[in-house]
Amino acid sequence: MPATRDYYEILGVGKSADAEEIKRAYRRLAMKHHPDRNPDDAEAEVKFKEAAEAYEVLSDPEKRKLYDQYGHDGLRGHGAATHDFNRMNVDDIFSMFNDIFGGAGGVGFGGPRAGGARRGVARGYDLETQVNVTLEDVLHGTTKDVEFTRMDVCETCSGSGAKPGTTPESCASCGGQGKVQQAGLGGMFRMVTACPACRGRGTTIKEKCSSCHGRGRVGKKRSLKVKIPAGVHHGQAVRIKGEGEPPAVDASADGSGVRGDLHVVVAVEDHGLFERDGDHLILEMPISFTQAALGAEVEVPTLDGSRTINVKKGTQFGELLRIEGEGLPNLRSGRRGDLVVVVKIETPKKLTSKQEELLREFAETEDKDVQPESHGFWKKITDLLGG
Ligand SMILES: [Zn+2]
Ligand SMILES: [Zn+2]
Repeated sequence: MPATRDYYEILGVGKSADAEEIKRAYRRLAMKHHPDRNPDDAEAEVKFKEAAEAYEVLSDPEKRKLYDQYGHDGLRGHGAATHDFNRMNVDDIFSMFNDIFGGAGGVGFGGPRAGGARRGVARGYDLETQVNVTLEDVLHGTTKDVEFTRMDVCETCSGSGAKPGTTPESCASCGGQGKVQQAGLGGMFRMVTACPACRGRGTTIKEKCSSCHGRGRVGKKRSLKVKIPAGVHHGQAVRIKGEGEPPAVDASADGSGVRGDLHVVVAVEDHGLFERDGDHLILEMPISFTQAALGAEVEVPTLDGSRTINVKKGTQFGELLRIEGEGLPNLRSGRRGDLVVVVKIETPKKLTSKQEELLREFAETEDKDVQPESHGFWKKITDLLGG
């Protein structure tokens, strides 16, 4: 049954999300709801499949367009039907979107899958985690403590899933191949899928390891110190090689596999004062109308201190004053951008009688109408009305 929830809502992204954002959202959900991480949790499997369906549509520009225009019906009516994920097994869904999970060798939770894109090295899945930084961190670079959970090799059984002292046996259903052939599209073609009996492992376990319930993997917390480079942008990821998940059980047993990577996605927090534009910073700064008219030396806050700048006589509202080199460092060159000051001119809300008098005198020199003095104005009106 196709999902009826909104695909954007399922992935938790906005309608204008770009391809990278959609991919990231899906990867996060797939990792979170993967059945191997949520044993005996039917709801997780439903969510896992729901996310796969949403991703399949939103990652395909044509399908996405149809969906945006006509909703779920558009996909059925225009011959762009999606896979029936509810009838697919989890391993096959995973191999469908293999590139997302970093599996160059096509090896995942389920077991070794022969014939990956590149011959040879089996690779575990990539993981993703998020870290928040401030604009000050972006200015100087920083080191952050990052804590995450990954499925790691069970120490009790060394990842075999079998109770210590016993060994896994070759799977009878697939003869130890880990794959079986199935007829697709009513016998039109045959496709090879992971063996459902052993979930692609090629082996079955008589007596399960009690620490990992036969999965060979257990969730482990890990913390790392991660260097965040100066100049980093919101949404960019720092890739830590080899801190992802280990390759599939069988691949790691003979030492042939490598771990996936950890992607630390950087979120730059909003700053109360400065707005970022590439490597430049933008600051809205109020000055008084007299400073604008007469010119002044004004102290401007910067990200790490302050600078005094000269406001010219006759500065206009919205005028831009550029302070070179007070922006953020470029990620590659390290060269700092500028601080752009947007001038806001404040009109005084209250005037002393002396100030009002002076301004009225000033107004007389201009050929402009100003409101009559408020007291007198209203008095005149009440007089007129005979109050
Ligand atoms: Zn174990
Ligand atoms: Zn099998």
